[in-house]
Formats: sequence, C-alpha cells, structure tokens
Amino acid sequence: SGILATSFIILIILSFSFWFLIRTILRQKTLEEMKSDFTNNITHELKTPIAVAYAANDALLNFNLAEDKKQRDKYLNICQEQLQRLSGLVEQILSMSMERRKTFRLHPETFNLCDLFPALIEQHKLKAGKPVKIRLDIKPEDLAITADRTHFSNILSNLIDNAIKYSPEEADVVVHCRKTETGQIEISVSDHGTGIPADKQLLIFDKFYRVPTGNIHNTKGYGLGLFYVKTMIEKHNGTVTVKSEPGKGSTFTIRF
Ligand code: ADP
Repeated sequence: SGILATSFIILIILSFSFWFLIRTILRQKTLEEMKSDFTNNITHELKTPIAVAYAANDALLNFNLAEDKKQRDKYLNICQEQLQRLSGLVEQILSMSMERRKTFRLHPETFNLCDLFPALIEQHKLKAGKPVKIRLDIKPEDLAITADRTHFSNILSNLIDNAIKYSPEEADVVVHCRKTETGQIEISVSDHGTGIPADKQLLIFDKFYRVPTGNIHNTKGYGLGLFYVKTMIEKHNGTVTVKSEPGKGSTFTIRF
C-alpha cells in the first residue's frame, strides 16, 4: 500500500504540473494575442490624427490670412487636438515598452507637490473634451518629495484622466493630497462616475484589462493606464489601491 500511496502522490503532482503548464501556455497565448491586437489597433489609430492634422495644416497653408481669423483658429485648434491625441498614443506605446527595458532607470529629483498640482489640473481641464469640475484639496504644508518628476506626473495624469473619462459631464473630480502621521505622502483621486464592480477591482491593474461594459464604443482606451500607474508607483516603493462602488464612483489612492 506504500507503493500505491507514493504512486498516487506522484500522479497528483504530475497532474498538477500538467495543469499548471497548460494554464501558463494558454495565458501566454492570450497575452501574445492581446499584444498583437494592441499593435494593430494602435498603428491604425496613429494614422487618423496624422491624416486629420495634415488636412488642417494643408488648409492653413492655402489660407488667405486676411480672410477669416475664426476659420484660421479652427484649423489651428484641429492641429493642436490631433497633436495631443498623437502624444497620448505615443505615451501608451512607451509605457508598454518601458517595463520590458532592463536598463530602465528612474531620475529622481526633489520638488514640491504644491507646485505640481495646479498646472496639472489646468492641463486636464483643457484637454478633457467635456466640461469637468476638478477640485484640489491640499494642505499648504511642506509637501516636498523626491521622485521621478516625469513619471510621477504621468501617474497622476492617468488617474485624473480616468476619473474624467469614466464620469459624466460636469461631475466632480477631487484630488486630495496630504502627509500622513507616519510621514507618507497620500494622494487620492475621487470621482462620481461609473464605479468598478468588486470582482474587477484587482484585474483593472493588469496589462490590457478593461471592465467590459457591453458597449465597446463607450470609452476609448487600451487598458494600459493603470498597469503603468502600478508599475511606476511600485518602482517608487509605493502602492496604489482602489475603493469603488458601481454607480457611485471610485477613489484611487497612491501612498509612498
Ligand atoms: P483604459 O482607461 O485605457 O481602458 P486603464 O488601465 O487606465 O485603461 O483602466 C483599466 C480599466 O479600469 C478601464 O478600462 C475601466 O474599465 C476601469 N477604470 C479605470 N479607472 C476608472 C474610474 N475612475 N472609474 C471607473 N472605471 C475605471
């Protein structure tokens, strides 16, 4: 019976390993498929803003300046919007390749969050594409931090972008920032938007994951923003967490 028990245990171990292998292969496949979808989609999406900006610029080149200032501003605005769209897409591509680079390094510098936030919020109001209310709740204490300024701004940008994207027009978005009793910096971005079901709240930080809404045209995105946020805040030895209730809203908090 000793031999039988041993064979049984070996069989269990083998089955488990086999199951694990199959699962890993399948996961790898879907990730590979998602990567290729991403490359196809994003290459396609890069073409549109370039074509539109070309057309607007062409119109400007053939434009008689004395003619109509309003019309000229319209074309200039189109160029501006398309350039913004392009830079957003390029950022997504970079964030994808960044985590694969072995040579990736942060470039820390010391700066004050009180200097960073107002400009960041202003930028988001401008590029939101819909009326938004963003409120900053920050104590005028010393909030100097040492971090990679570019990546840190990108982390916050992604959270504010999402808060706007997944909220109705004119809904409040609040950015809180404080230093905790233990000296940690805590920043949270709250919205009153769609919210995220409890069983999806861990998945949203995965590469390419988007909560299925049934309507793929609802919002644009690749499911990379929060993956970037998590990867980057962890590189800063920090954490990101989410509290959310469907239909009520979400709060994303980073601590570091
Ligand atoms: P993207 O917004 O490009 O899809 P993200 O990685 O930024 O990618 O977010 C992943 C998913 O998490 C989103 O597709 C959305 O379903 C959900 N999500 C993120 N932020 C919010 C938010 N503030 N409110 C509701 N859902 C959100």
